[in-house]
Amino acid sequence: MTEVLSTRKIMNRKAPNRSTGIINGESSNILNWDDVRYSWAYPKYKRMLANFWTPFEISMAKDIQQFSDLTEAEQDSFLKVIGLLALLDSIQTDYAGKMADFITDSSINALMIILAQQEVVHNHSYSYVLSSIVSKNLQDKVFEYWKTEPKLIARNEFVTNGYQAFAENPTIENMLKSIIFDVILEGLFFYSGFAFFYNLARNQKMVGTSTMINYINRDEQIHVDLFVKIFKEVLNENPEYNTQELEQYTIEAFRRAAELEIEWAGEIIGDKITGITMSEITQLIKFTANLRCNQLGFGKGKVFPEAPSKNPLRWIKAYEEVDLGKSDFFEQKSRQYTKVNDDNGFDDL
Ligand code: ZN
Ligand code: ZN
Repeated sequence: MTEVLSTRKIMNRKAPNRSTGIINGESSNILNWDDVRYSWAYPKYKRMLANFWTPFEISMAKDIQQFSDLTEAEQDSFLKVIGLLALLDSIQTDYAGKMADFITDSSINALMIILAQQEVVHNHSYSYVLSSIVSKNLQDKVFEYWKTEPKLIARNEFVTNGYQAFAENPTIENMLKSIIFDVILEGLFFYSGFAFFYNLARNQKMVGTSTMINYINRDEQIHVDLFVKIFKEVLNENPEYNTQELEQYTIEAFRRAAELEIEWAGEIIGDKITGITMSEITQLIKFTANLRCNQLGFGKGKVFPEAPSKNPLRWIKAYEEVDLGKSDFFEQKSRQYTKVNDDNGFDDL
């Protein structure tokens, strides 16, 4: 099955305002939130707006003092994780734009544009952190890591090959597969990095950076949920693509992705970071791979049947779900944020 995707027309007077399909549909391309095809689109829009934040709101004063007090291993991992996240979020901005071109529904296109804007903010936060704590020379070096670190190259190419296949040959099948890689990028490949920062934060280290990481984490959960919804709508409207092969492909992709993530965790956490062990992080990665595969609709415990069915790191869950509007969990905040609730299905399978 290699049905090609058509791009969304800039304007189509003959088509209805409410689209006729998420892909290869008809749409006038006008956006009226009170006349959209998918009932989940408007709540999602409100949620994405409510999460708006920028790095300027977060003070780095304490982090600047603390960075030199970190152990050498912590400093090294800190910079590597930032370098990795910077690359993933850069690619993500571009992928969201490419995806948006083939969505034939003006409201879902609008959500993709907001998602892309949030990725730009994430990237800004990495420059903001680095320009605060290290020299310009070192900052430039960190943004080069992804070109030479072998473990990073293996991981990144795993995802970008899937994106590239869709960009070069935009078929329905390639779009669906690219969404699987998206969920790997936004829903799995960030997670040992997040764990590293939350572990620092619970020891009251680098809380400014961790606050930003928490905002990014919260955005990424919404992004995963948005792509999952798109994936399910595409399959719902094109059921001939909902095959055993796709399920098998997804499970295999998550298994390989988890292996790559565990290798990367060995590089940045290993046995050199106090407060977090490789066995814990391995369990977290396997749990997360199962969770994402289930979110995509393929059932519980499919990737690693032996992995725990609840988030094995309870203290991480606390960091992810902190109510940033009311709590001083991260010590600092400068404005009210929407309450983080757990309707992203993050915790339990
Ligand atoms: Zn991001
Ligand atoms: Zn994202």
